[in-house]
Amino acid sequence: DMSHGVALYLEGITKSFDGFRALDDLTLYIGDGELRCIIGPNGAGKTTLMDVITGKTRPDEGSAWFGSNMDLLRLKEHEVAQRGIGRKFQKPTVYENHTVFENLELAMHADRGIMTSLTWRLSGEQQDRIGEILELIGLTARRDTEAGLLSHGQKQWLEIGSLLMQNPRLLLVDEPVAGMSGQETEATAELLTSLAGKHSVVVVEHDMDFVRSIAREVTVLHQGSVLAEGSMDQVQNDPRVREVYLGE
Ligand code: ADP
Repeated sequence: DMSHGVALYLEGITKSFDGFRALDDLTLYIGDGELRCIIGPNGAGKTTLMDVITGKTRPDEGSAWFGSNMDLLRLKEHEVAQRGIGRKFQKPTVYENHTVFENLELAMHADRGIMTSLTWRLSGEQQDRIGEILELIGLTARRDTEAGLLSHGQKQWLEIGSLLMQNPRLLLVDEPVAGMSGQETEATAELLTSLAGKHSVVVVEHDMDFVRSIAREVTVLHQGSVLAEGSMDQVQNDPRVREVYLGE
């Protein structure tokens, strides 16, 4: 949707591993505030794509722009994170021995190290910010619970909350509902859709019902490039998608 500002623009991205093209002349545009789902069969290049966006993998060819003028391919992984791209891997990583509140506090001071962070006095504004995030991720009543005692779903939300503490412009989320109960899945759909608008959100997901429930725009990857883009209905009715992806 070109009426929004640009959050991310990738053009002509190619990445080979031992001669195998994991990404093959891929072009992708994500608008500000968009919620985009990326689907595609195993080996389609989804992980490699996330790795390229976050500076973990350097492509052989192509350009990648964050916002209108930041050349992503010049940045190291930690610089990409600092400049506003948060990445949520599939497995939750939280500080198990710290409370939910402390986890968010640590995320706020990600650059300072644990001891400094937890003795640092929070300003009223910072406490309010943590309060807002706790509400958003549905963990207000769990704020003093050790993260290790949370359910799998709650840990995932806490990690998303931790990423939000850095107020990313773009949030990349890998298979957020894998292993979640039906109720947790619904709550996750609500959380992710509520983030869109304020943040651009890119979700890589296999669960098609979940994709259908959250996404207005879906990108189908196949053999390292974009096979189809559009609403879930559009891409599911696309004959090329049915052939390669749905096995018809
Ligand atoms: P997806 O996430 O869609 O399943 P990937 O991006 O993980 O796809 O992988 C795309 C292809 O690239 C796969 O065939 C995979 O074997 C290959 N690949 C990915 N990363 C590497 C790597 N570090 N070394 C060699 N091959 C890789």
